[in-house]
Amino acid sequence: MWRGLMALVLRRDLPQDSSLALIRRIFSDNFREFAVKYAIAFGFMALVAATTSLSAWIMRDVVNEIFVAKDFSKLLQVTVAILVIFAVKGIASYGQVVTLSKVGNAIVAKNQRKMFAHILRQDSAFFNRHGASDLITRISHNAQAVREVINIIVTSFGRDLLSLIGLVSVMVIQDPLLSLVSLIIAPPAIYGVAYLVKRVRRLAHAEVLSLARIVQVMQETAAGIRIVQSFGIEPQMQSAMNGAVSGVEQRANKMAELGARTSPLMETLGGCAFALVIMYSGWQTIVSGKTPGEFISFLTALLLAYEPAKRLSRLQVTIETGLIGGRMMYEILDSPPKIVDAQNALPLDIQAGELKLTSIEFSYIPEQKVLKDLSVICEGGKVTALVGPSGGGKSTVFSIVQRLYDLQGGAVCIDGQDIRHVTLRSLRQNMSLVSQDTVLFTGSVRENIGFGRAEASDEEIEQAARDALAHDFICELPNGYKTLIGESGHTLSGGQKQRLAIARALLKNAKLVLLDEATSALDNETEAKLQVAMRRLMSGRTTLVIAHRLSTIRHADKICFLRNGAIIEQGSHEELIAQEGAYAALVNLQFSKAEDAASKSSATQVEAAHFG
Ligand code: ADP
Repeated sequence: MWRGLMALVLRRDLPQDSSLALIRRIFSDNFREFAVKYAIAFGFMALVAATTSLSAWIMRDVVNEIFVAKDFSKLLQVTVAILVIFAVKGIASYGQVVTLSKVGNAIVAKNQRKMFAHILRQDSAFFNRHGASDLITRISHNAQAVREVINIIVTSFGRDLLSLIGLVSVMVIQDPLLSLVSLIIAPPAIYGVAYLVKRVRRLAHAEVLSLARIVQVMQETAAGIRIVQSFGIEPQMQSAMNGAVSGVEQRANKMAELGARTSPLMETLGGCAFALVIMYSGWQTIVSGKTPGEFISFLTALLLAYEPAKRLSRLQVTIETGLIGGRMMYEILDSPPKIVDAQNALPLDIQAGELKLTSIEFSYIPEQKVLKDLSVICEGGKVTALVGPSGGGKSTVFSIVQRLYDLQGGAVCIDGQDIRHVTLRSLRQNMSLVSQDTVLFTGSVRENIGFGRAEASDEEIEQAARDALAHDFICELPNGYKTLIGESGHTLSGGQKQRLAIARALLKNAKLVLLDEATSALDNETEAKLQVAMRRLMSGRTTLVIAHRLSTIRHADKICFLRNGAIIEQGSHEELIAQEGAYAALVNLQFSKAEDAASKSSATQVEAAHFG
């Protein structure tokens, strides 16, 4: 019956299959789990419908027995009955609203958890495709939309349709002919609403996209506020925001206007029906001498039927808005994670920690190769430095080693095991990444270091911080290790953040380390501390480092010079200098620059010469 009714109401002018299929899917994903609660809500709604119909029904006795027949004994009976009817209706309405809200909130929570869990399993390409603002808008907006769709349909069919059936029954019982007269407004009403639905659907989609744009501008401004202010591009950001906000405003106005247009439509048509009924019934009472009780009861039922009928007429318009959100949610849920464990994947069995890249071919966009036939062996426990001009593919090597992307050709092996054949979890457990821009999560310093290893004790966390030369500055923070950092907490300097990241990696104690050295210039003392911390991290571990500082490069056991996605030279510092190739040229250039700078400013060290 459900489907039949839904199909009846939704048949006109929807892209039938997709909307109906979507509604069906939303229900089958969410309805069953909460079926008992919905049944309770339905019980309440049936009570609301019954009491509404009864209130119309009783009008006949009110008029005929009390006002026409002037039967005093009925007066008390009828008034008590009215009191009971309305009290029950009030309680049932309360029960219905509370039950439905709770189920609705549970559905929102469930879908948000589901979306987030799904998003977490996605590969980097997914995140390149869907920006942060897109995902934020989806998770906050779409799950709500699903709730709306379910609740609107449930209340429409549960409360409004049942009320309408009850009230129309009262009308038919009181006067079948008159009922027919008042139904002539149905065809024009359906036609008018169908026209509005088409326009609403288009607007609803555009509105969600504009919302995402607002989030995007806000996010870019917050993340890049220093750049925004120092370059004085506030007016541009403001105008981007103004544009996005105006877009949403205009569409919201248009939607409100279109949604409300059902009111004048229904109001006028309702007025026609009402006038016809009054005319006919008045004529019957005056000319034929019929008792007015039936007509009053009929009129009450007609008036009461008007609101649920109006809501039902807007059902499609309201559902369409919700369905847009539902569609966007399933767009995310239906994109399967591309990088997953192979069947029979085994945990990585790490021994010496040798990392071998063989004939790697990789591109982000088809036909645009970023890595071309790249081969390198990073010996276990040794340091391999990647150097070369920016855009050469160094960061891409990091991504493919962590299997954030899958390769188009070649293989990455760790101790002879292809990373596509080991579990993702074990692969990433055996790797520590220290990236250039340290990401701190909202939480305390202790928690931020502890991300390295969930079960670490306080002593271990402190030891890692000491080894990373971070303990002293942490102790000077207002609440020491308990100081809140991250987006909404205490701000740390670049050098401090990097040492926290190193502490995190030291705590994780993985055999493989991926270190993306910071390019930002640091003062001598901070630089020296960072170098010590980095050496400790690299010691005894297989390290792949994107190196920008000469001191780091010279410390490396092997240097790979990457240009345009290929390693054009590899060897030790001395060997490469002796070759007098690209590496030697770069070193000479950087040396002379750094020496130049050093002669101008005593604060700059030759050792801090920057590459890349
Ligand atoms: P490096 O770290 O040496 O500066 P990258 O590995 O970041 O070099 O970049 C290598 C090439 O890949 C560049 O041409 C860059 O534009 C391209 N690239 C990097 N990331 C992406 C991405 N997510 N999508 C498309 N192209 C990318």
